[in-house]
Amino acid sequence: MTFLTFAMVASAFYLKYMKSEEKIIQYYKRLEQLVNTDALTTLWNRRAMNEHLSILVNNHNKYQTDFSVTILDIDFFKKVNDTYGHQYGDYVLKTVAELMKQSFRKTDLLYRYGGEELIMIMPETNIEGALIPVQRLRRMVEEYDFEYNGVKAKVTVSIGLTMNYQNLSSSAEILKTADEALYRAKEGGRNRVVLHEQ
Ligand code: GH3
Ligand code: MG
Ligand code: MG
Repeated sequence: MTFLTFAMVASAFYLKYMKSEEKIIQYYKRLEQLVNTDALTTLWNRRAMNEHLSILVNNHNKYQTDFSVTILDIDFFKKVNDTYGHQYGDYVLKTVAELMKQSFRKTDLLYRYGGEELIMIMPETNIEGALIPVQRLRRMVEEYDFEYNGVKAKVTVSIGLTMNYQNLSSSAEILKTADEALYRAKEGGRNRVVLHEQ
């Protein structure tokens, strides 16, 4: 029996013998949460980001509401893994995600986009407003004393920041501009925030 078949049989069994409607709702909420969450960082995953971003783009097209999008990439992360080991890399990634949670508002949306790339979406925030928490996060990571199993390290991040400019009509176009800004942050020497300006 494959894992998927086993999971489906177990789900059917569980639902059949569940006592109340409330428990069934709780169960589906839990499933939805698992499908949309990144296990390592506990941030939203890429699937959730695609959904949320397309909702924001649609809302913008209807109501002209602003939002900002930023991509963070850990600098020289491969070297962190190579020098201290993969577990240490995982610890660094989890810690950067924690620092990110600390520096943003409850209404902001935080995702692991893939590998060591994290995305923040700030609804109802233009690029000037977004710059403050983004700069704060960059500085927090730079100043943080990473330590795991007694081994200390310093880590920095590069960040590309953009917003829903009028000429950007899809999620893909918005992400592309954030990515271009991130690329310029890397080219410019890393450990910096670069804005995509219209
Ligand atoms: P740059 O400053 O240009 O971003 O250099 P970099 O070394 O960070 O970039 P690169 O894309 O070469 O390396 C990313 C590394 O991230 C490679 C991969 O092994 C590592 N990585 C991706 N996901 C994980 C993860 O979940 N845990 C750990 N420990 N490493 C990961
Ligand atoms: Mg990367
Ligand atoms: Mg990197």
